[in-house]
Amino acid sequence: MERNKEKIKQKMDELYRLINYYDEKYYIEDNPVISDEEYDKLVHQLIELEQQYPEFARPDSPTKRVGGKPIEQFKTVVHEKPMLSIDNTYNEEEIKEFDNRLKRLLGRAVEYFCELKIDGVAVSLIYEQGILTVGATRGDGFRGDDVTENIRTVRDIPLSISYRGKLEVRGEVYMQKKDFERLNSEKIKNNEEPFANPRNATAGSLKLLDPREVSRRHLRFFAYGGFFEQNPPTQEEILKTLEEYGFPVNPHRRFARNIQEVIDFCHEWESKRNQLPYAIDGIVIKVNSLRDQEILGATSKSPRWMVAYKFPAEQATTIIKDVIVQVGRTGILTPVAILEPVHLAGTIVSRASLHNFDEIKRLDVRINDRVFVEKAGEIIPKVVKVIKDVRKGNEIIINPPKTCPVCGTPVTRDPDEVAYRCQNASCPAQIKERIIHFASRRAMNIQGLGEKIVNNLVDSNLVKDFADLYDLKPEQLEQIERMGEISSRKLVENIQASKNAPFANIIYALGIRHIGERASEVLAENFSDIDEIIRADEQKLASIAEIGPVAARSIREFFDNPANIELIKKLKKAGVSLKQTGPVEKKGKLSGMRFVITGTLKNFTREEMKTELKKLGARVSESVSKETDYLIVGENPGSKLEKARKLGVKTISEEEVLKMIKREI
Ligand SMILES: [Zn+2]
Repeated sequence: MERNKEKIKQKMDELYRLINYYDEKYYIEDNPVISDEEYDKLVHQLIELEQQYPEFARPDSPTKRVGGKPIEQFKTVVHEKPMLSIDNTYNEEEIKEFDNRLKRLLGRAVEYFCELKIDGVAVSLIYEQGILTVGATRGDGFRGDDVTENIRTVRDIPLSISYRGKLEVRGEVYMQKKDFERLNSEKIKNNEEPFANPRNATAGSLKLLDPREVSRRHLRFFAYGGFFEQNPPTQEEILKTLEEYGFPVNPHRRFARNIQEVIDFCHEWESKRNQLPYAIDGIVIKVNSLRDQEILGATSKSPRWMVAYKFPAEQATTIIKDVIVQVGRTGILTPVAILEPVHLAGTIVSRASLHNFDEIKRLDVRINDRVFVEKAGEIIPKVVKVIKDVRKGNEIIINPPKTCPVCGTPVTRDPDEVAYRCQNASCPAQIKERIIHFASRRAMNIQGLGEKIVNNLVDSNLVKDFADLYDLKPEQLEQIERMGEISSRKLVENIQASKNAPFANIIYALGIRHIGERASEVLAENFSDIDEIIRADEQKLASIAEIGPVAARSIREFFDNPANIELIKKLKKAGVSLKQTGPVEKKGKLSGMRFVITGTLKNFTREEMKTELKKLGARVSESVSKETDYLIVGENPGSKLEKARKLGVKTISEEEVLKMIKREI
């Protein structure tokens, strides 16, 4: 080898060694020795050298983790084995009940394995021939987002392993408390809304479309389950094997011979939880033997052999300094308590939800009151109790506002609703919320149109409704603080590109009350353009499966409002596609198939089976006709079976359906 090349190889080897050393310091010893900037510099040097001298590049190079190009949107991954949810227990009694139930089902005693319940985001990792090929979020348990590029940036997830067979690893991506606090202080410095807790920050990071940004978030991983081609016989050994293949497994785990040992483990960690550098919200209790797990099986929602013990919600006391009123997209006024900042469940909280004005009355909360706030998994803590004994006489009673705090319109209250509303459709607060909803990922997906910019656009009168977005010029955007020439041009491009969003997204983007993502999809499947929906009467709308009377009335109310018809006209004029483009998108593997169910099913209620089938795109009707593809026959079938035979409709058993939808019970 020439001397020059020899030198370069030495340089690269040195960089590999250094970067691995710094990774180890940061992720394993929790003792970073260089700054992020210095670290990035080394990685970029290595990237350049690898591009020039690919012959010296290593397959497991740390440069694979710094993130590739941003992507447009995530693909959907269908989980081979559904990622079911876990049933919760909240006290010793319920844990013992769980144990008794299993003993009854198995007819003998059970051994358990206990693990900490990490407060993060569940993911599934697929390895083929030793290489990480797919990383996906849990999603609805059946289908999740393909976040492989982001998963690669998690330093302690191995990109390659020595196991050559197919392997699925399940685990939790999480963020350490100190990384969370650093991220939030950066956000606050940049005038951005901080994350409520480490789990939210993790979920938000995994959903970023730019893997380079994700790689800066210092996400970490603990494996808690694996599906090898040949599984070891116990949960304990699965975790040990995963560890041997280089996966991080939480060290605080324990085999338990009986339920008392499980309960001891739960209590032990309930008192030690705050000593950990990451957040946990309970203990996961699993039957240790895989053979027993198989015998016990699962209900449609969760495995029977596993349960979570949730720690009691953490509480703290603090003072209510003020109560502000927020105005939502549909004009609902929500009171929010501003608190004396207080430590709660590993984070500092300064706001708490009060839900509505009836709740304020029920609790008798007043400004300057000392109160208990509680956090039980939700994003924003809530006020649960007032300590009335310590009142000093300077407490101020909180009344619902007479007028909207933003636009001054008199507030109204629907007799059958708890909420107070601002009915002014051009209330700036509502306009802002509607535009933010319009631009959101599940709606028109206009990237770069965040809350700050929307506030600016509305306050400066550049935009009065979401249709106005399409008239924006880059020069106008440049007037906004911190918007440069390039970002202004890019944002206008993104706005224009959204004109061709799928029909369902546009319906959802309109922000009609009671019309969520699923209802929008259903409407898009049943109507070919917006005018057809506008013409449909309430009865016709209500007759569509999955729409129902409440949503139907809401759709009618929306389009009976002349202001909304004007808005639709403006969107049309701007060139927004308000119709079905191309054939209806195929959604599931049962797309277009029609099913009818008769008799009693063993593993599902009929409603549950319906939901499962619909998720895969099938249609389920009440009566058999020539259009029916399959009649699912349970125990004690009714007259539908006879009719199906007459019409020559195929009949299948529950087991056969399960095979079709590949659902494991
Ligand atoms: Zn208002």
